[in-house]
Amino acid sequence: MTVAAPTLSAEPSLAKPSLAGATRAELAEALRAIDTPEREIRMRVAQLWHWIYFRGARDFADMSNVSKIVRGKLAERFTLALPEVVAEQVSTDGTRKWLLRLDPVDAADKGAEIECVYIPESDRGTLCVSSQVGCTLNCSFCHTGTQKLVRNLSTREIVAQLLVARMRLGDFPGLEPPTDGLVPSGADVRAVSNIVFMGMGEPLYNLEQVEAAIEVMSDGDGLSLSKRRITVSTSGVVPQIERLGAECGPMLAISLHAVRDDLRNELVPLNKKYPIRQLLEACRDYPGASNARRITFEYVMLKGVNDSPAEARELVRLLKGIPAKINLIPFNPWPGAPYECSDWETIERFSDIVFNAGYASPVRTPRGRDILAACGQLKSETEKLRARARLAVE
Ligand code: SAH
Ligand code: SF4
Repeated sequence: MTVAAPTLSAEPSLAKPSLAGATRAELAEALRAIDTPEREIRMRVAQLWHWIYFRGARDFADMSNVSKIVRGKLAERFTLALPEVVAEQVSTDGTRKWLLRLDPVDAADKGAEIECVYIPESDRGTLCVSSQVGCTLNCSFCHTGTQKLVRNLSTREIVAQLLVARMRLGDFPGLEPPTDGLVPSGADVRAVSNIVFMGMGEPLYNLEQVEAAIEVMSDGDGLSLSKRRITVSTSGVVPQIERLGAECGPMLAISLHAVRDDLRNELVPLNKKYPIRQLLEACRDYPGASNARRITFEYVMLKGVNDSPAEARELVRLLKGIPAKINLIPFNPWPGAPYECSDWETIERFSDIVFNAGYASPVRTPRGRDILAACGQLKSETEKLRARARLAVE
């Protein structure tokens, strides 16, 4: 299983903890640690919140309405550092991928790396964030699942991905947008308007931190992203689906990928624990699901494996009664993958059957394939670069 996420109270031997990405409770804790009188805590938390999440402050010294003494004490114990951007790649289609190095969690840790991806469109910008380093679940078509190192990300590390993206996209007061690629702009468009938890990891195996991160991201006094624009994608951790809906209420996406248990057991091994019937029941009961808030069903198109017209018809039958949209994802290959992507005509035929049954069935255009930023490809580039670097020194 995964190990716990690091907490704010880092060991003394490690670097000063950063408050960028912290929850209100963590900020209050930090203020108590510098002996702030209890009666001031609420007001100080509100000030810090505004500076960190609304203004994108990078330095306590900039917080002009916070007393100099408090700023000084904060700077002695904490920082506002964000994870280091080890590499930034910009695809020809404007997709950006950032490789981020996280702070070490103990003396033996060299700092794990995660990737997050930004996908611009004319009317929106979607940030695909990671919830874990790697993933324990080993879906047979996903490269992330082949990675050995796994740990949960902390709330701070999840929120920090959005902060890094907004910094790099010049989306805080006083910053300029980059000139080397497409970033949507206009009166009503935000550079990052949507978040999807579709990067590395299974978000429902790190539910508490994911929920806390969503609360920070959707807080109206700061980052202010509506929960309707935040989607959590899961391979089907049934008991956690209801909790997510009841406690937090973001949009839900289910990685279905097969309509029969025998095949889904193979593609998504978690299905052996929570089979299709149970999974769909949890979707029927998902608090807040409605025609205005549909559940997305993701279906990766694997040539000759799950892409027949009979399977499309079965998919429609299975989803009856659930407010659903179906997202067909062309399989994104990675080195050594045991599958191929379905032919375009097969995908179209599948999509037509689903569409004629009354479902929106967009085929997700692969984005950023040239920089290996598409679904399921994350981490491969880094590992490849490492392998190359190793070869170079041998
Ligand atoms: N663990 C979560 C979220 C991360 S994966 C989940 O499985 O839902 C995000 C999406 O990418 C999932 O729908 C996943 O099935 C899909 N995916 C994984 N590998 C892929 C690949 N090689 N090609 C296309 N989609 C892939
Ligand atoms: Fe993990 Fe999702 Fe990849 Fe499956 S598809 S291995 S759950 S990241």
